[in-house]
Amino acid sequence: MPEPDEASRPFFDGAAEGRLMLMRCVRCQTWRLPARQHCDVCLSDEYTWEQASGRGVVRTFGIMHQRYHPAFEVPYNVTIVELEEGPRIPTNLMGVANDAIAIGMPVEVVFEQYDDVTLPRFRPARTL
Ligand SMILES: [Zn+2]
Repeated sequence: MPEPDEASRPFFDGAAEGRLMLMRCVRCQTWRLPARQHCDVCLSDEYTWEQASGRGVVRTFGIMHQRYHPAFEVPYNVTIVELEEGPRIPTNLMGVANDAIAIGMPVEVVFEQYDDVTLPRFRPARTL
């Protein structure tokens, strides 16, 4: 389980409230993920935290068959979701069979509560 630190606390606090929060550059509006001090584009150290839509698409994924930790049940997917806002977030897809995952699949965030941290995960987007 990740442990929130000073820089990432708004991300985890947002997740606990069911909101996907991302750091955003005040000067040029570029999103920053993971949270970091300086903007990749303009090097500004000014930022705000804004709520992202929670929607994105599968950019790439892998299916893990090796058990690296006893808590993981194999096989499991490790998926990179490209958010509507642009940043790519490493995650796991839920609610879909591993062999049904496809690049470009629309997904939406869901929040999973663990003992003392809430993590964003993703599932196939519901059709409108
Ligand atoms: Zn910037």
